Amino acid sequence: MREISAETIKNTVKMLFIDANHELGEDEKRAIENASKNEKSQVGQSILNALCENLKAAKELHIPICQDTGMAVVFIDVGQDVHITGGSYEDAINKGVAEAYTEGFMRASVVKDPIFCRENTKNNTPAVIHTRIVDGDKIKITALPKGFGSENMSALKMFNPSATREEIIDFVVETVKKAGSNPCPPIEVGIGIGGTFDYAPILAKNALARGINTENANPDYARLEKEILGRINDLGIGPQGFGGDTTALGVNIEYYPTHIAGLPVAVNINCHVMRHKCAII
Ligand code: SF4
Repeated sequence: MREISAETIKNTVKMLFIDANHELGEDEKRAIENASKNEKSQVGQSILNALCENLKAAKELHIPICQDTGMAVVFIDVGQDVHITGGSYEDAINKGVAEAYTEGFMRASVVKDPIFCRENTKNNTPAVIHTRIVDGDKIKITALPKGFGSENMSALKMFNPSATREEIIDFVVETVKKAGSNPCPPIEVGIGIGGTFDYAPILAKNALARGINTENANPDYARLEKEILGRINDLGIGPQGFGGDTTALGVNIEYYPTHIAGLPVAVNINCHVMRHKCAII
């Protein structure tokens, strides 16, 4: 049994959320740069160039890429041969988030109660934590600060099992069309297919965390990803909704077995600021 302290978990979560909010991964940056080279609309191209400048400035000045520094979503794979010492697991994660957002001077965006008392918790806690117990003696932590301009545009539909591939594509494309400029395009689209009513959206968020340019290992789903991306870009919404070829930078699908009587499909939209950082301890 390998021991990992709650302090190590806290410090890792803190570092990941600060990093994620200040610098995108290389693949994400390159996707925006490439889009700016290929965009045919002049306005669209100038917006994409401005987004690239913004990314550079955030890195150089060590300021967040966007004022909405997101609700803290954490995916954690805990090895079954790990023993966490010196404190509670969930406390360690929430302390890491609290320190990241207060000491990192990032906006606290979480309220205590969704309806009756929308009082800010002032340190962006609690996080939304998804834990899996896996083989091994390590912990893999993925931090995903999720902005709500895009989160609010996401959707779930419980299809009949007889739904066609085309109907599923139409639902995703229609969701993006309805969102228009609200999720700050160019967007990234995570799609979860299968499981249950609650599991499909988790698959969709996990699909976002997979990162851009990561084609599905299953060729049928890889083709579906490509086709949906093409259909979304044909909408012409363009960068920040001003028109153009680049409405989405990427589409990722995660799927899971489902019940014979159903076919859940969840669409989780992210803006161009596709923040996610990962560490293994
Ligand atoms: S959708 Fe993204 S870019 Fe737009 S305000 Fe939210 S975090 Fe910022």
